[in-house]
Amino acid sequence: MTDRSTIITEDVRDAFLATPGFLPEDEGMALVDAAIEVAGLGPLVEIGSYCGRSTILLAAVAAAFGTHVIAVDHHRGSEEHQPGWAFHDPSLVDPETGRIDTLPVFRRAIEGSGLEEHVIPVVSSSATVAAYWQRPVALVFVDGSHTEESAVLDYESWAPLVTPGGALVIHDVFDDPAEGGRAPFRIYRRALDSGRFVESGGERSLRVLRRQAVDR
Ligand code: MG
Repeated sequence: MTDRSTIITEDVRDAFLATPGFLPEDEGMALVDAAIEVAGLGPLVEIGSYCGRSTILLAAVAAAFGTHVIAVDHHRGSEEHQPGWAFHDPSLVDPETGRIDTLPVFRRAIEGSGLEEHVIPVVSSSATVAAYWQRPVALVFVDGSHTEESAVLDYESWAPLVTPGGALVIHDVFDDPAEGGRAPFRIYRRALDSGRFVESGGERSLRVLRRQAVDR
């Protein structure tokens, strides 16, 4: 059961498309393909779940392989989601506190996908979780805050936890600075330059790197 079409059913695709987020379908399918290749090796980790759009795709793969997605997000929104910024969605503001809270929308999206038992939400910053995390993981999908500091912290915290043969997937990697921020591109370059990862796939700004079996 490792064919994409048997994993991403019409229902899963509908749930993905109905969930707010910033992952286009073609990049989402590249994420699915990367996850299918490695999900036999262990759990999948997502950094920056937002409303659960990509979580649904990873959860569908996890379900097919009898594993889980650890969906890490503080659910307070990244910089660009805050009021006054380009990707602010007022419907995600908690009226009681005035702060962004994507957790209720995330929970509803995951519940609606029927994949809830394959998702382990962790409400925290990714570096904090990584500090307690010991087990190697099959895939890390880095799609959190795009500040230099956050991207570097996500990379340094989680890249070492990718098991040999596993995948490091980075979203919003743009070769041309005119297309987007530099931080995801820099950690992508850093992963390649480390010699521990080789590029193995992807689609547009979603880049898939595989952890080499032997450290060099
Ligand atoms: Mg993204």
